[in-house]
Amino acid sequence: MNPQHDRATTHDLGGAIRSILPSLERFVRFEGVDPARARSKWRSALDTSLPVAGIGRDAVLAELADLVVANGLRVGHPGFSGWVTTMPTDVGAAADLAQAVAVPQRWWATAGNFVDDLAMRWLIEMLGFPANFAGTFTGGGSTANLIGMGAARQHAGERLGLHPARDGNVGLVEPRVYCSTETHHVVGRALGVLGLGRRSLREIALDNNGTIDLDRLQAALDEDAAAGRTQVAIVGCAGDVNTGRVDPMPELARIARERGIWLHVDGAYGGWGVLDERVRERFGDVATYDSFAIDPHKWLAAPVGTGAVIVRDAGILGRAFEIETGAYDRERQAPIGVDDTGSPFNELGLGTPDFGVDFSTPARGVAVWAILREIGSDGIKERIVRHNDCARLVAHSARNHAELELLAEPVLSICCFRYRPVGWNDESKLDALNEAILLGIRARGRTVTSSTRVGGRFAIRPCFINPRSNSADAEALVHEVLAVGRDLLGTT
Ligand SMILES: *Cc1c(COP(=O)(O)O)cnc(C)c1O
Repeated sequence: MNPQHDRATTHDLGGAIRSILPSLERFVRFEGVDPARARSKWRSALDTSLPVAGIGRDAVLAELADLVVANGLRVGHPGFSGWVTTMPTDVGAAADLAQAVAVPQRWWATAGNFVDDLAMRWLIEMLGFPANFAGTFTGGGSTANLIGMGAARQHAGERLGLHPARDGNVGLVEPRVYCSTETHHVVGRALGVLGLGRRSLREIALDNNGTIDLDRLQAALDEDAAAGRTQVAIVGCAGDVNTGRVDPMPELARIARERGIWLHVDGAYGGWGVLDERVRERFGDVATYDSFAIDPHKWLAAPVGTGAVIVRDAGILGRAFEIETGAYDRERQAPIGVDDTGSPFNELGLGTPDFGVDFSTPARGVAVWAILREIGSDGIKERIVRHNDCARLVAHSARNHAELELLAEPVLSICCFRYRPVGWNDESKLDALNEAILLGIRARGRTVTSSTRVGGRFAIRPCFINPRSNSADAEALVHEVLAVGRDLLGTT
């Protein structure tokens, strides 16, 4: 080895990609029995000690292809409808690679930096926000909610003449954030990170619609106002991950405005639902939101690690997350102009360092730009409507089939239902049977889905966001539940 040269190869990117390509192509065909099941094989092959000399390019690419890719996670399989996750489509994956190679930072006056910013403006427009709203891409919904809560804290502090981002939370009196019991747990964690404390979350029970009880919310707000507590935010849930219900946003917006409290909406999963005219109304006027979290890596199928937060007041967000630049990087931050003479390194490009918690990051918007450019807002809208239809199809079967029971009427693309043999009333037996059905259908491999509890009952819970799935996959899931249920009861 010549110590003057780095041991990592840098001269044949094409060769490296070509050598793993057949394995990637095989993986996305999702054929046969899922090889990732054979854990003992790949685990023992991969579990090596720290390489000192390194095994070299070809050997590691072979391991990547044969062990990592070949045993990958089939969340893009058309029959997969579990949790709230999927994998990128072709263009999203290609853009991710292109970005990793050619846009290795969101900074400076590059085409990648430009489309990152453009993608955010397109999202703002597509979701119906006024053009003066601003946003940033984040690592996911967790960070998007953290940033929204950080802006809310700043807003609450500034109303009291304080500057929490600079001075901390001193002066915020027993801060409170209001949300329903269905709100995702990352919101509480965000409050922990911000030093407001997880216990500052005041979780309001649901009403008969399965969304936040507005009377209880008003009572809690009155009580805390009378006690002089600092009211930081009302958090609306735009698509809870158990049932897909959307809190009544027009009412939450009115309450928040009347009381001067920040309205944050967690639409990480369901925010894309604004594109389906049939449920659009539930979201109210998005222009009334102060901050909004949404995950392109969910329904948009951007590469995982792509969240977004959109806010009304970029000034507050900027004060909440302001970066105190070091002397080494105090250069011009501006929209990328049309000056063809200077080095791209003379301008930082727009970037949004004051809007988040990352400094160096991938230009996550490159993949979002590519996805929107490929299929347009119409293509996204069709996907949302198709998937909401999938949930309605499952609900229709569950309502009409003697051996099925619908547990929650779908609003978006989640449907909660269960298998219920005629005459069965024992809840714990029904829970156990449905849990066994869930595992049974995974074992068969045609469909994979997940579960939740609705009113204490174990529910089979598909969530359709997978670009590769359609009504045939929803029908297959119903078929599988019936087949496995009957099989387990010995009634086939
Ligand atoms: C997924 C999700 C989150 C968490 O987002 P990540 O992207 O997983 O970090 C938060 N809230 C809701 C409603 C979600 O669907």
